Amino acid sequence: MLPDATTLRLEACEVDDPTAQITLRVQSTQPRAPCPLCATPARRIHSDYGRTLADLPWAQYRVCLQLRVRKWFCRNRACQRRIFTERLPTVAAPWARRTLRLAQRLVALGMALGGKAGVRLGHAWDLAVSRNTLLRGLRRQPAPSFPPPRVLGVDDFALRKRHTYGTILVDLERRQPVALLPERTAEPVAQWLREHPGVEVIARDRASAYAEGARQGALAATQVADRFHLLQNLAEALTQVFTTYGRVLDAVNAMERQQPVPLSDGTNAVPVPPPPTPPAEQARAAQRAARRQTCYDAVWAVHRQGWSTAAIAAQVDCSRRTIERYLQMPTWPVPQHRRHYGRSILNPYKASLLERWNAGCHTAIQLFQELQPRGYTGSYRRVTAYVSRIRQAQGIPPRRQGRRQRLPVVAEPVSQPLTPRRATWLVLRRQEQRTAAEAQQLAQLHAQSAEVAEAIDLAQDFPHLVRPRQPEHLDPWLARASTSGLEAIRRFASGLHDDYAAVKAGVTLPWSSGPVEGHINRLKMVKRHMFGRAHLDLLSRRFVRAPDGG
Ligand SMILES: [Zn+2]
Repeated sequence: MLPDATTLRLEACEVDDPTAQITLRVQSTQPRAPCPLCATPARRIHSDYGRTLADLPWAQYRVCLQLRVRKWFCRNRACQRRIFTERLPTVAAPWARRTLRLAQRLVALGMALGGKAGVRLGHAWDLAVSRNTLLRGLRRQPAPSFPPPRVLGVDDFALRKRHTYGTILVDLERRQPVALLPERTAEPVAQWLREHPGVEVIARDRASAYAEGARQGALAATQVADRFHLLQNLAEALTQVFTTYGRVLDAVNAMERQQPVPLSDGTNAVPVPPPPTPPAEQARAAQRAARRQTCYDAVWAVHRQGWSTAAIAAQVDCSRRTIERYLQMPTWPVPQHRRHYGRSILNPYKASLLERWNAGCHTAIQLFQELQPRGYTGSYRRVTAYVSRIRQAQGIPPRRQGRRQRLPVVAEPVSQPLTPRRATWLVLRRQEQRTAAEAQQLAQLHAQSAEVAEAIDLAQDFPHLVRPRQPEHLDPWLARASTSGLEAIRRFASGLHDDYAAVKAGVTLPWSSGPVEGHINRLKMVKRHMFGRAHLDLLSRRFVRAPDGG
């Protein structure tokens, strides 16, 4: 029961039931104690005094050690210390108020859960501790050590999105993060690589900073532009194309809304039309769009005169980030309509509402009252608005009861309306994962405009050369993309040209498709799962800010 029975002897044990506390009176029995300064074993006792230590709880009882320890005379005349208190390295740290084993348990608790959650579980286990104590215990731990990695993944991560970024280095073979660096620039990466030789492969994203850092720090290592980021960059370029050609998406969405919805019994239903935008909201959106376009035109006007981004920002009233975004768009994109997002609190109930409607229940208040017991918490107004859209689909004039005639069956359209992002993922999704409706949507998109069709073809061919590793197709693809009429695709291709060796390595080398690719794709997940705030603190003290316990 004692932390160390070889140096401690139990003198008495008191159980106090009302306060649920056990007090153990314990005496140190060391026959001699080494001086902490000169390590000479001392024999003469000076005095003794009491220490109180909290220990692991026993059942629902808190346990407290009343420990008698002694002070000794150092007999080394050359030593500066005349009198010292004996150390009990197996029981507790000097000056500690907790036994070593209790402190270790708290560190384990903090390591697994971090501050606040650790405190909550600690209370359930009768370990009274504050979150600051938990975090302090973590920071006192030595940084974990790792064998030098051979295959290293380098990526950035956000400490605070859009404000502060750091760099994470992951041993891709062991799937272990090995270091966090305080910035996402070349120098810290180069420095780390110089201090940790032996890295043979560096898988990185396509930011030039990491390429430069890897070149400076480990010239001999093979650089790989990893597939995850290649495909991510492609997706960004494609989203830009769809943003520029927003009218094409609108046309596809409008067509989709006209088409009858095939039902499982082989018949067709009338689609529910999209919600109308209220005139006030429409006017506000038009104002916003006009303001943005003015800014966009101004940015381009001064950019053509050769101004730098900083100079433009000083002149035009918008942020540098916005200016950079505008300069990536050679033509003014069609403003996106929020209504296309189609998120509504009514969505989960639409199927049953339509079922009841088609069965002949045409009273909005009754439909509303039927939905409420099923958990619908939205307003009645929302139901009436939806009902009026159904009536519009069926051709029943407003404020008139549907006559007792056979009305067409109504249904929600199968596919969601396209936004630039949805269109991007529709294109990049693997063919076998597309539903029939999605394939049809894609075909419509492809048929709408020659430019968009070109972007789709190029974008779909790229994963075919990346995923199954076909480097021989890379050069022809680059040639096609570089002569494309689409600015965003051309810029993506020229980026690949600039980083050609690493890109080629990414689509050529066998090890990059095996475990490395898996690791790379899991990199974001690893970051999320392996780095609670506690681990983050532990690996790099530089990141410690005011502990918020989260
Ligand atoms: Zn001494």
